[in-house]
Amino acid sequence: MSATAKQTKDDGQMNFSADVSRLLNIVANALYTNHDVFLRELISNSADACDRLRYDAIQKPELIADESQFRIHVYKNTDNRTLTVVDNGIGMGKAELIDNLGTIAKSGTAALMEKMKSADDPLKLIGQFGVGFYACYMIADFVTVVSRKAGSKAVWVWESDGATGFNVRKATKEEEAKLDGERGTAIIMNIKDDGSDFLIDQKIKDTVETYSDHIDFKIFNNSPEETEKGEGQPINKASAIWTRSKSDVTPEQYEEFYRHITHGLDEPVLTSHWRAEGKIEFSALLFVPTLRPWDLYDPSRKSAVRLYVRRVMISESLDGLMYPWLRFVRGVIDSEDLPLNISRESLQYNPVIAKIRSSVARRVLSDLDKLSRDDKAAFITFWGQFGPAIKEGLYDAEEHRDGIFKICRFYSTHDNGEKLTSLDEYVERMSDDQEDIYYLSGENLDTLKNSPQLEGFKSRGIEVMFFTDTIDDFWLQTATDYKGKTFKSVTRGDIEFDKKEEETDEKKEDLDDVHEDLLENIKQVLGDDVAYVRVSKRLTDSPVCLVAQDGGVDMHMERVLKIHQKYAGDAKPVFEVNVKHPLIQKLEKTDGKSADFKDITKLLLDQARIIQGEPVKNPAEFARRMAVYLEKGF
Ligand code: ADP
Ligand code: MG
Repeated sequence: MSATAKQTKDDGQMNFSADVSRLLNIVANALYTNHDVFLRELISNSADACDRLRYDAIQKPELIADESQFRIHVYKNTDNRTLTVVDNGIGMGKAELIDNLGTIAKSGTAALMEKMKSADDPLKLIGQFGVGFYACYMIADFVTVVSRKAGSKAVWVWESDGATGFNVRKATKEEEAKLDGERGTAIIMNIKDDGSDFLIDQKIKDTVETYSDHIDFKIFNNSPEETEKGEGQPINKASAIWTRSKSDVTPEQYEEFYRHITHGLDEPVLTSHWRAEGKIEFSALLFVPTLRPWDLYDPSRKSAVRLYVRRVMISESLDGLMYPWLRFVRGVIDSEDLPLNISRESLQYNPVIAKIRSSVARRVLSDLDKLSRDDKAAFITFWGQFGPAIKEGLYDAEEHRDGIFKICRFYSTHDNGEKLTSLDEYVERMSDDQEDIYYLSGENLDTLKNSPQLEGFKSRGIEVMFFTDTIDDFWLQTATDYKGKTFKSVTRGDIEFDKKEEETDEKKEDLDDVHEDLLENIKQVLGDDVAYVRVSKRLTDSPVCLVAQDGGVDMHMERVLKIHQKYAGDAKPVFEVNVKHPLIQKLEKTDGKSADFKDITKLLLDQARIIQGEPVKNPAEFARRMAVYLEKGF
């Protein structure tokens, strides 16, 4: 699929790129449920355009010499059935009109469009991929965009019926007059029959109030000329929402602001609005979304919080403003301390940014902790969406490890893996003589719940946590303990169950001696497939299991590393046998050189592998042996 619009020979007529055409199709056919959002999208674009010029004007004040006040006009003309949205923001040149309105430049759009086709509520996805502008085709059958880039003379027009293509040409005098002063953009929409309510002022005002009240620029419900003549008052508050005090902002306004900056239609699961005072001063209005964004695991791990400096937007995504493990947090941080006149690039290394980052992380973690107590259900939803991302912080940011651990939730053998539990709850339930926090890691909760390695723990009433996210195996490498208690894999090494049993440890040593012949015979059969064979303390019901050697890499970790090709080694597992199991007892009475002994032993190893989710080394051999004993037993 081509990402660029194709130009045909005749004057400026071009086709939409394939993805835009598809999008317009979806807009026209599926997005009819809530027309109003188109106005929010256009006003949001206008506000962005004003924000951008305000930033550029710091270096080049001449860009706004004609008019330093930014503003937006939304007005109707009932005679020719048009609705016009005008801003005196940064404007667009010819190439920008073509690129911005003729293609979807954002990466991953194609895949997302696929999603949109099958989504129950495609409206939910609008804007996430930058479909914002095209929403106007919900109510318009022809759209003319007149634009003049700040600082340039040429005025260009982009026009389209939103079907197959668009036309770009020089503006007529009459069209130029639509602009507000010497810069910016006017979007003139020919309203369709079923968009007629937008030709009523009250509808425009209501929609602006609902969706755009928080916009930092004045929005007028008349034309720029009328405003110049002193007619009409702004129809929004036009004060940055984060600078207001909490009591002046309604939950609905917070939500609309959230939608403005995220383009999403979900609701935030957490809204944090505060002002930091003291050594560093900033206001923050941050949100945690309900839904995971589609690019959460994009390797760039980009921050999604906007940085303002004294009300001027500096960047929509400044590296270093947020920790990568908080990349899903959305919102605004407005600093009082940072200089306005340095480049975005050097800003990210400014020590003030590092201080803000850390202070914000502490606040977000503590608010999430509070949420876990105030609204358990909401917190659990949040954890399901963002838990794995947050846990990246366990190895990324040691200074926040305690705060992160506090909100971590895992399944465990308590409640039989039905409910999530915190580390604190686990520690509380530990008996006095349990020293370690036991865990079992793997991808599949059901497989884990039924692992033979758990048997000894269950029978002794010792709780084991299930670590089911890939990331768990990584943070465990550096974050090795919680509150002085070491994380210990139940599939690694020898397990010392508790002090009382330590005395019987001698007995266990004996057990290996008592069963020396059996262990030796098994090792003979299994050869290099296992490191060694020993009597198991962790099994009660199953005949055998595999565990990692002491000090070795946890078995699941080894699999994970292999998948990521970070690990070439082939650590051999320890094969543990349950000498109380009838099958093992029978095996012990069997001649170690017999075919039965060999086949059964190999079957047991394969079985242990299967239970762990590992492939059987030789499936044909496995099937042959299996058939022999199935027949015998049948
Ligand atoms: P998004 O806002 O998510 O980037 P849109 O479809 O809403 O996606 O807009 C596409 C692009 O068109 C914007 O990123 C911007 O570059 C440009 N654009 C749209 N409206 C305006 C405007 N009023 N002034 C300047 N540029 C605009
Ligand atoms: Mg937009």
